[in-house]
Amino acid sequence: MDRKIIYLDNNATTCVAPEVFEAMKPYLCEFYGNPSSIHRFGGSVASALEDARRSVAELLGAEYRDKDGNATEIIFTSCGTEGDNAAINAAIAALPERKKIVTTAVEHPAVLHYCEELESKGFTVEKIGVNARGQLDMAALTAAVDENTAVVSAMWGNNETGTIFPVAEIAGIAHAKGAYFHTDAVQAAGKVPVNVAACQADFIAISGHKLHAPKGVGALYIRRGIPFTPLICGGHQERSRRGGTENVASIVGLGKACQIAKAGLDAEYAKLKSMRDAFEAKLLATIPQIRINGDLDNRLPGTSSVSFECIEGESILMLLDVFGICASSGSACTTGSLEPSHVLRAMGVPYSAAHGTIRFSLSRYNTMEELDFVVEKLPPIIARLREISPFWEGKNE
Ligand code: PLP
Repeated sequence: MDRKIIYLDNNATTCVAPEVFEAMKPYLCEFYGNPSSIHRFGGSVASALEDARRSVAELLGAEYRDKDGNATEIIFTSCGTEGDNAAINAAIAALPERKKIVTTAVEHPAVLHYCEELESKGFTVEKIGVNARGQLDMAALTAAVDENTAVVSAMWGNNETGTIFPVAEIAGIAHAKGAYFHTDAVQAAGKVPVNVAACQADFIAISGHKLHAPKGVGALYIRRGIPFTPLICGGHQERSRRGGTENVASIVGLGKACQIAKAGLDAEYAKLKSMRDAFEAKLLATIPQIRINGDLDNRLPGTSSVSFECIEGESILMLLDVFGICASSGSACTTGSLEPSHVLRAMGVPYSAAHGTIRFSLSRYNTMEELDFVVEKLPPIIARLREISPFWEGKNE
């Protein structure tokens, strides 16, 4: 690639941090033993795995018990999707007499589609709605959770708008009825404090590639004492809670990424938030008829969902791409018809705005200069697209 890339799609995936890559390297060619092997060569790999487990536990404020203890609250997974599926699967298995799942209308497909799968197998699934700011309807949630509910699954931070849910309150509502609480913290972990003591979650799923570890690795927090039926059955890895030889190098990378995230949490939050807020202020000042989506007072720091009235997000993305600017749209393209995302629809964002929604998502590696470059390139792109938009004609600037 010869042109400079301005990567503002960090909620889709992040680059592997150089320190993470360095930490992983020895576990690819040098220390390649199987952590389950009896010999010392495997044993040294097993201890690297446990160091990584401790680092994940520390990021989440979870308990880490040593190798002689019975319980450690973290298992490694292949991704956030697996963690979400495994948590819900374990919750319904632990409360077999309960046949209801309560979730939200704005979850990631990793939760929504798994719940729909369970619906087809006889479970009742209630998806709680949100208001125009993406805030959860807590009254509806309270009414929905009952003695038949096995699990409440609500995300920590939304991947499209960054809106943060009141997870501690939701956990309280679930527990009051004897249900488990699972939270998908794939977008939140490493960006805001995700602490098991503060949120009282029973299950928390995180994913490596959203926090500068590689793709193909994740972790699931399981509160101590909860019976856990594995989603993936096989060998006795992960104390029989997840079969399959561990992805050691990536797990080591995840551990390192969690250490870095924990050490830099406050500073990174402040940096991302101030860059994002300045970026949005500049866009609002230079482009008419735009809106910022989500709970503006309670969002993940690096996420910015911007709707540009009367044009299509895909066209904006293609013209941004000419300048090497990478972002995402708020639409799912299905065989020629562009459906706005389920998140924006649940928030009641009008079609004319939802279609023209772009998600910019920042990481620690972005700079204000990059964002200023976007602010410079975007107004003529929007003006040009609006000029040829039949929906824009007659709109008052
Ligand atoms: N949950 C949320 C909120 C996400 O944003 C994503 C990925 O975009 C996932 C789950 C799935 O994570 P993974 O890609 O690791 O399976």
